[in-house]
Amino acid sequence: MTASTPSIFTKIIDRDIPADIVFENDRVIAIRDINPQAPVHLLVIPKATAYANVTELAAADPALLAEIVTTAHNLATLHAAGEYRLVFNSGESAGQTVFHVHAHVLAGNLQEHTLA
Ligand code: 5GP
Repeated sequence: MTASTPSIFTKIIDRDIPADIVFENDRVIAIRDINPQAPVHLLVIPKATAYANVTELAAADPALLAEIVTTAHNLATLHAAGEYRLVFNSGESAGQTVFHVHAHVLAGNLQEHTLA
């Protein structure tokens, strides 16, 4: 992805492609993952396009990272029992496929599920 090539998540934020949006404010959007790996599988995505992964986000805007965590907690409370697994894949060999930072929020009965 380059600056001139919007990520799939930017296209969702811009309403160029549809998604099941479960939360949105000025800074973040949360959607249902199109290929869920758990009974509840949401993605919390900052609207800022500058950060490819969580390391970049943490270094540049820790408050925004904290907001992603708070949003994950709030959504896990709304959509499950408030307990959740938070996963940031960082790098291709770790399973990252979209290089616009996002948190996977996995909830429900996770004992039989592997990491996203
Ligand atoms: P990553 O592999 O980068 O950690 O996570 C990317 C996630 O985005 C995957 O779990 C994948 O299923 C999800 N995803 C990819 N394209 C779309 C899409 O167009 N819509 C939605 N809702 N999720 C998507």
